[in-house]
Amino acid sequence: MAAKKRYAMVIDTKLCIGCGDCVVACKMENEVPEGFCRDWIVESVTGVFPNLHMEYRSERCNHCSNPPCVHACPTGASFVDDESNITLVDPDMCTGCKACIAACPYDARYVRPEGYVSKCTFCIHRVREGLDPACVASCPTHCMHFGDLNDPESNVSKLLESRPFKVLAPEAGTEPNVYYLI
Ligand code: SF4
Ligand code: SF4
Ligand code: SF4
Repeated sequence: MAAKKRYAMVIDTKLCIGCGDCVVACKMENEVPEGFCRDWIVESVTGVFPNLHMEYRSERCNHCSNPPCVHACPTGASFVDDESNITLVDPDMCTGCKACIAACPYDARYVRPEGYVSKCTFCIHRVREGLDPACVASCPTHCMHFGDLNDPESNVSKLLESRPFKVLAPEAGTEPNVYYLI
């Protein structure tokens, strides 16, 4: 049996230019309906003038290891894929009750016009074919990396070993699997 993966994304905030190519690539790859998005760009400014720090971040579902969306879902439609640790939604089981949307601290989910909830899937359909997610593959500055944190030799494991990083809202206790190099 193949070893269980813990897929993660590592994004270098020092290289992201906020161009939004990842957002366009995701919309096209995943047929995201008009007015919704699975990933988005945040422009964050911190510090006090003249010592300001500006950062662009490409954000999406964090595929949390302790996912409140899954815990909140009353039907089992929201689940963690056993093999990959990717958080997914089964459209056939989703009633559109939105309990998962209320539970997610990252505002990563939306209701599709068909009535079921959707969000970033880490492009599991591509990953199963050995490809990178569409957003990762499209980034012109190559600031996004994707791989298995259960493999100490993977690109993402090595990046997290060699560079300082942060996750979003760590205080929420969700244990995100999207990391930002700082
Ligand atoms: Fe669930 Fe939100 Fe975490 Fe994604 S980011 S796994 S939707 S709680
Ligand atoms: Fe589960 Fe769907 Fe309700 Fe979300 S909207 S909690 S996925 S049944
Ligand atoms: Fe969209 Fe796939 Fe990137 Fe998730 S991993 S934001 S679904 S392109």
